[in-house]
Amino acid sequence: MSDTSPLDVLVIAPHPDDAKLGMAGAILKFKAEGRRVGILDLTSGEPTPHGSPEIRARETATATAILGVDWRENLGLPNRRLEATLDARAKLANVFRRTRPAWLFAPYWVDAHPDHVAATELVEAARFWSKLTKSDLEGEPFHPRRIYNYYCVHLKLTPQPAFILDISAQWEAKLAAIRCYESQFITGRPSDSPTFLDQLRDEAAYWGKAIGTRYGEPFTCREPIGMSSMGSLV
Ligand SMILES: [Zn+2]
Repeated sequence: MSDTSPLDVLVIAPHPDDAKLGMAGAILKFKAEGRRVGILDLTSGEPTPHGSPEIRARETATATAILGVDWRENLGLPNRRLEATLDARAKLANVFRRTRPAWLFAPYWVDAHPDHVAATELVEAARFWSKLTKSDLEGEPFHPRRIYNYYCVHLKLTPQPAFILDISAQWEAKLAAIRCYESQFITGRPSDSPTFLDQLRDEAAYWGKAIGTRYGEPFTCREPIGMSSMGSLV
């Protein structure tokens, strides 16, 4: 992970399992297309009922290997107390200037989890700061082209996504990556049906059905979405 060439995609996650839950299928697709993909976790995600910093680090490393991402770091902001402070904004803007991603992926902006809401606010503010000249930030000004939003929501929402990605071919690998987070999704959860993993499959099948495929992943964006060709329509 010492390659310093710009990333195509940077996924920002409040906690180390959010990127996998929300968009492991898209990450696997980006990698299959030869894109450079990074994941930035904002916090360690600890404490949790069945995790520890050591367990979480091990689980994150295993899941990262399955996804094959090019770059992964943790910004070290406080879990459960994540706030879009000026200091956090500068730290994140510095990461954007260093990794120079074309596209950012942030959590959906409506959520019951305050860390998730703060994460989205922080990404939007840091994207703006990253382009400023005459600032005391590190490196050269840089403006990521777009922020897209993935759904990893602690709220019983009925999302209205801007688009749904067909992840039928990536579903099993996505599930394998999510299973790595045993302390979060398996340990201590009810084992009778439907399990948490069953529900994830049902959700992915629901989104797939909406576009006529087996499995799908929903996304949205505050800004219009540009396409370079019509070739990807399903
Ligand atoms: Zn989270």
